[in-house]
Amino acid sequence: MAYVRVALALLALLLLGLLTGWWLLVFFLGAVAALAWDWFNLRKLEHWLRMTRKLDPPKSAGLWGEIFDGLHRMRKRSRDRDQRRRTLVRTYRDSIKAMPDATVVLSGDYHVEWCNQAARDLLGLRWPQDEGQRISNIVRHPEFVTFLSRYSREPRTITLPSPVDGRLWMEVRLVPYAKKRHLLLARDTTALRRLETMRSDFVANVSHELRTPLTVIYGVSETLGQELGEHPEYARSVQLLQEQAERMKNLVDDLLLLSRLETGGATGQGHWIDVSKLLSTLVEEGRLLSGAREHQITVETEPGLMILGNEKELRSAFANLLANAINYTPDQGQIDLRWWSDAAGAHFQVRDTGIGIAVQHIDRLTERFYRVDNGRSKSRGGTGLGLAIVKHVLMRHGGQLTIRSEPGKGSTFTCSFPPKILRHPAQRHDRESA
Ligand code: ADP
Repeated sequence: MAYVRVALALLALLLLGLLTGWWLLVFFLGAVAALAWDWFNLRKLEHWLRMTRKLDPPKSAGLWGEIFDGLHRMRKRSRDRDQRRRTLVRTYRDSIKAMPDATVVLSGDYHVEWCNQAARDLLGLRWPQDEGQRISNIVRHPEFVTFLSRYSREPRTITLPSPVDGRLWMEVRLVPYAKKRHLLLARDTTALRRLETMRSDFVANVSHELRTPLTVIYGVSETLGQELGEHPEYARSVQLLQEQAERMKNLVDDLLLLSRLETGGATGQGHWIDVSKLLSTLVEEGRLLSGAREHQITVETEPGLMILGNEKELRSAFANLLANAINYTPDQGQIDLRWWSDAAGAHFQVRDTGIGIAVQHIDRLTERFYRVDNGRSKSRGGTGLGLAIVKHVLMRHGGQLTIRSEPGKGSTFTCSFPPKILRHPAQRHDRESA
């Protein structure tokens, strides 16, 4: 259509030239008219683009009309796209705003970019005043500051008192996402914590109340054993009474120890402990426990490698691992203890050649009262709490437990401790056989 119009205009100019004979003037006027038309449309376009937000373009004819229509379609498409994007963002924001959990969007270096209402209530954030603030300037708990400084690409969790009200407890989860962003999610866990405290208080109180009567029963059973031991008609009953009283006493002792470990927080300062020395006394006790079963126990230590911690707790954890190795290894079996250090820290290891543990049980062994074989554990005087105690002692020393085992071949329990609580790992190895 546009070409037809141009052709018609040229034809008109030709006719006018033929009629008047003033070729130069006719074509000059034609060129001026074309230029004026273009200039006029360009002005309209410029005005439309710059001055108005109107969707409808200015009216025009010919090529210019088509250009305006094209631009109109482009503008409309881009507006629709923007609208869709805005709606999407608004929907997401509204859903995050409605979330009952506190949600804070953090930049790569933990500066606040956005937060919802729950974050203002639970974390004490002020919006928009705190936009751009570092989150550790708002939540100043030292454990949270350390938690932030330990960089990781994996989601992590920490439990803290709320900065708004110290009686409220919250579980804070830090989730890295996109290229360099973090999502901080916090939820109120006060009720859960109260229940947890009630449970452990209850167990501690019951254990405490049972302790005195049990000590009496245990003492009486011992006296009875001495008095009536020679009377065959009573011997079996007295022996049973003694065994069960001892089992109950051990159970109550372990329950009390566990609740003290649970409620005690981190070990704090502690003392420097010479683990090599500790192990030599443990081995003596282990040999006594093994008695006629004659296990072969060896110790390999790094002398002078000291650990900062609570000696009673560590002794109890290590003794539990050794007792288990003895209990679950056939007579005359081999048990090796090792204490050494490397770049990752120090490690205490108990390796036995016992019955081993099937893989499906391994993750659950540190749960209270979890036993692979109930009868076997009880017949050996096990309380089912030993590994739970080990786990808690290690947690309080910043350590962790690794369990490897193969049924029928044996098990290896390794306690690993971080370098910051270790002193002077002498390079000399000392091997002694017990
Ligand atoms: P228990 O008092 O029953 O030994 P623990 O918490 O110490 O309780 O151990 C939990 C369970 O783990 C035990 O009942 C036993 O089945 C298994 N276990 C622990 N140590 C060993 C080991 N060295 N070899 C085989 N099984 C073990």
